[in-house]
Amino acid sequence: MANLISIDEARGRILEAVRLLPTEDVVLDAALGRVLAEDVSSAIPVPPFDSSAMDGYAVTAGPPAELEVVGESRAGHPAAVAVSGGQAVRISTGAAVPDGADAVVPVERTEQVRGDGTVNGLVRVPAIAAGENIRYAGEVVRAGDVVLHAGTVLGPPEVGVAASVGRPTLRCAVRPRVALLVTGDELVEPGQGLRPGAIYSSNRFALAAQIDRAGALNVLVESVPDDAAGTRAALARALAAADVVIVSGGVSVGPHDHVKGALAELDVEERFWGVRLRPGKPVWFGVGDRTLVYGLPGNPVSAMVTFQLFVRPALAALQGADPSAGRGEAILDEPVPRNPRREEAVRVRLRPDRDGWHATTTGQQDSHMLTSMLRADALAFVPAGEEKVPAGERVEIEFL
Ligand code: AMP
Ligand code: MG
Repeated sequence: MANLISIDEARGRILEAVRLLPTEDVVLDAALGRVLAEDVSSAIPVPPFDSSAMDGYAVTAGPPAELEVVGESRAGHPAAVAVSGGQAVRISTGAAVPDGADAVVPVERTEQVRGDGTVNGLVRVPAIAAGENIRYAGEVVRAGDVVLHAGTVLGPPEVGVAASVGRPTLRCAVRPRVALLVTGDELVEPGQGLRPGAIYSSNRFALAAQIDRAGALNVLVESVPDDAAGTRAALARALAAADVVIVSGGVSVGPHDHVKGALAELDVEERFWGVRLRPGKPVWFGVGDRTLVYGLPGNPVSAMVTFQLFVRPALAALQGADPSAGRGEAILDEPVPRNPRREEAVRVRLRPDRDGWHATTTGQQDSHMLTSMLRADALAFVPAGEEKVPAGERVEIEFL
């Protein structure tokens, strides 16, 4: 770990190694969170026909009048008749405007003169101008308009818009396949008893959840003992199964850290080891064939922070989405100590105020204190240096 590099340099080297994944058709019900791989244009105008914005009467625009009700147009059931002078067609919201009509009078502005307002009735309407209460064909989307762009992460509105133009499926990037190897002889899973010297494997679950949240697929999760042969065998399985391999722990320089040696034996080429970052300094990144390989530090906060800073952007970029997370600035509401050599990613809570976001730390920031991630809204970046950054100073933030 001789040459520590900056966060930006590390991200640059990762994105340089990313190759776009192939694409597949995805039905709309499964499309939430997926990344669109095509520009979607509409084959039809939306709405497809002129329709009523109100319940009321479709009429020919003009002065106040008493009109014969000659038909009805309901949603999904257009009127069989046209409207001419002296006539009206009862119409419901979303129903097709009948031929001859160019305005809709809302029902609350009409009066029944004869009958109950349906066919054969007589209705009194006030003056109305052409176009009132009509939704014109194509006023939402014209035929041929591009409504969604490649690279968009599909949320509920995007899925809805795709459906509104009649698309049953969307071309999306395949989800990245991720293998998670969790190293450490001290680790046991929740539900098991804690033997002497053991701790619960929180990274196994926190990282799996982060992988899921990033839109990727956990295709393999293994606990790996701290020995060279076991580490190597597990890595070989992971490399064969995944687009991205994440190893938790074992990337330090101790005699029981076998990950780097095993990666070298499997021809995974190192692209960096060590970032001027706290927490997360020993993070390792390399490339094997087409697989991106990460060695994340075992300390639970370091593991989650380095996932956020270095793995999440790659998972987005593999799918053709923007790898940069939401960024901004916040005003520190408390002084924060600087680290003399490393940029610090401080977990903060945010509160909006008139002059922007205000940040307070989530408490003690040591890399084994996983509870410092709880209720963190963002990482605040405190540049390396001496002394404290005073309260009131602006710092860069990245939303979690
Ligand atoms: P390592 O990176 O393997 O040297 O681990 C650094 C620290 O993180 C040690 O205190 C480990 O016990 C702890 N650690 C490693 N893996 C996990 C895990 N899966 N869950 C919780 N703590 C871990
Ligand atoms: Mg370890």
